[in-house]
Amino acid sequence: MVKQTVLVINSGSSSIKYQLVDPQTGQAYAKGLVERIGESEGHIVHKYDSNTTEVNAPIADHEVGMREVLRLFDEVGPRLSEAHIVAVGHRVVQGGRYFDGPTLITDDVRTLIHDLCALAPLHNPAHLKGIDVARDLMPDVPHVAVFDTAFFQSLPEETATYALDRDVAEKYSIRRYGAHGTSHQYVSQSVSHLLERDDLRQIVLHLGNGASVSAIKNGHAIDTSMGLTPLEGLVMGTRTGDIDPAVVFHLQRQTGWSAEELDTLFNKKSGLKGLTGENDMRAVRAMTTSDDEQTRRRARVALDVYITRIVKYIGSYTAELGGLDVLTFTAGIGENDTNLRTEIIERLAPFGVFLDEAANNARHDTAVTISTPESSVRVMVVPTNEEYAIAQQALSLV
Ligand code: AMP
Repeated sequence: MVKQTVLVINSGSSSIKYQLVDPQTGQAYAKGLVERIGESEGHIVHKYDSNTTEVNAPIADHEVGMREVLRLFDEVGPRLSEAHIVAVGHRVVQGGRYFDGPTLITDDVRTLIHDLCALAPLHNPAHLKGIDVARDLMPDVPHVAVFDTAFFQSLPEETATYALDRDVAEKYSIRRYGAHGTSHQYVSQSVSHLLERDDLRQIVLHLGNGASVSAIKNGHAIDTSMGLTPLEGLVMGTRTGDIDPAVVFHLQRQTGWSAEELDTLFNKKSGLKGLTGENDMRAVRAMTTSDDEQTRRRARVALDVYITRIVKYIGSYTAELGGLDVLTFTAGIGENDTNLRTEIIERLAPFGVFLDEAANNARHDTAVTISTPESSVRVMVVPTNEEYAIAQQALSLV
């Protein structure tokens, strides 16, 4: 086993995702997922070397889940007592105004993460469960919180501020916090590193089940599409992205639906799923070749709405940046959907952006340029690796 590892934990409301990572290289020694915590039948999958171990049993709560994970490390490997764990890195979605970088978790920091639950009711309470259990079970290792919002704490006032009544915004901490910051930071730094340039105007498109875009100038984020919550911005698997807020008032008046019901409609039942019935991009792509004309049409409209939103953001962020050097695709859809990249870049041809078809269609596991040498903007695909980024940030503190 290597000299140092970081155990990265992403705790959700009914799941715990974990990975034992070498913070120097990003190599994952083991990883796994605990699912359906609190349900009648839980499930754990633990991967080490080429072995996959599965457990099907009820998992009452996060503590039981975490104990099972530690047992699997002990019995299946790698043994954590010999893994030289230097830190446990916890992913936290909302760091509010308090955190602009990785932070050692003390009782005071825990209290602040708890105070931020009102801003991230779906995420922060779930993270706290994982943090509490892991700190209890592994008290001798430093625990570090890595916030999804930290990279965007440097947003200038002009893009962080909503044009909302000042007093209301102040009282309720309403501003644009962004999300996916760990990925945007990791990918944009990888681009700078690869091109050996810090003075870049970059746009990063993180297109996964959740999706966001950021504008980065000389290493600092100057705008991003997610706002107070991850709902704003691009069309996503199940989220609307940008929408006239008056749709909420209109629906409230017409239907009497509660805030919770509207929250569920906008966050869980919209986006690609709302438009086609499928939230997974591969399924939407498959629908475009269906025998049924209405199915084909729905999928095509959904893709057009999805792509047009992205093109709009590329245009406005290029203007904000005062030009563009590098446009980068990342995450599940960004890294794998070659057709989507073609459809987006074709719309940028009037601005001198050109795709190298062969490079775009080849399969890559590492960063690659997919534009032609003549293209006015370098277009890249860079695989994101949030676990590696969290491990690196955790290591930087200990
Ligand atoms: P992520 O949230 O980053 O794991 O990304 C999940 C999304 O990536 C889902 O919508 C998948 O359908 C999509 N995805 C994964 N592989 C492909 C592919 N080969 N083509 C299109 N979409 C893909």
